[in-house]
Amino acid sequence: ATPTAVMVGTGLGAESGILIKGGESLERAHELTTVVFDKTGTLTNGTPEVTDVITAPGMQRSELLTLAASIEAVSEHPLARAVVERASAEGCAPLPVEDFRALSGLGSRGLVNGREVMVGSARLLAEHSVDFGELNTQAETLVAAGRTCVYVGAQRRIIGVIALADGVKESAVAAVARLRERGMEVAMITGDRKETALAIAKVVGIERVMAEVLPGDKAGEIRRLQNEGKVVAMVGDGINDAPALAAADVGIALGAGTDVAMEAADITLIKGDLRLVVSAIELSSLTMRVIK
Ligand code: ADP
Ligand code: MG
Repeated sequence: ATPTAVMVGTGLGAESGILIKGGESLERAHELTTVVFDKTGTLTNGTPEVTDVITAPGMQRSELLTLAASIEAVSEHPLARAVVERASAEGCAPLPVEDFRALSGLGSRGLVNGREVMVGSARLLAEHSVDFGELNTQAETLVAAGRTCVYVGAQRRIIGVIALADGVKESAVAAVARLRERGMEVAMITGDRKETALAIAKVVGIERVMAEVLPGDKAGEIRRLQNEGKVVAMVGDGINDAPALAAADVGIALGAGTDVAMEAADITLIKGDLRLVVSAIELSSLTMRVIK
């Protein structure tokens, strides 16, 4: 591309809230075959809310919420924030935690009043041989409906499940439809469960889902697509998306997201509106056409 065309393209982008770092990404955006979206905070609003609190037999709702909130109060995860908020709304204040440990992409654990409390994915608790008992049937129904379930265990026993819903952005549906009209493959990548991810994917019209991907493995998934011959854009907002944004042919960060994501990306969208992803690609084609 001629420097002039790139300059014009970059300027046009800035006017519509698309910040482009280098001319190179503009050129590659034109060759993209595949767009991968992170789920939480990118396709969804990223502000989950508690919808259901299921207690294990013999467990008080307030005790479950107190123990869960104690651990989650230390975590900065959006799910953690929602759990703490709900507990507080029900008058359950967090207790002090000792030996806190965040388990990236899985959850957290710590000691509350000498009891080991673990909060996170089904996988995390299963890995620590917590038996889900009857709670699992109820939880699975919620997961199939697109809820994210947070499992709570104390002393290796399940004490409850907290279900959360995160609304899908309106612009996600429109953006995916337009990308598919352009003949592009659209995929979702998430650390969340396959069943939850599939339910959200169905709402936004995405067919290919990469779920239960640990934060450290997101970049590897992008490289796997590239090895299949795909030219890949990754759209994300979180710290855990940064390596994938850097690995992608074009990394697109949301301006409302974390600084780490923006630093790793080639393009930053000032507004959360995902239709700007399509605009960025269209702008790139336009710039390339002007050049030829
Ligand atoms: P995403 O890729 O969707 O942003 P993460 O990789 O952050 O998701 O987390 C993946 C899964 O790990 C979550 O869906 C949740 O089940 C679990 N998890 C991670 N952190 C926490 C936490 N602090 N509290 C509860 N669950 C958590
Ligand atoms: Mg995210």
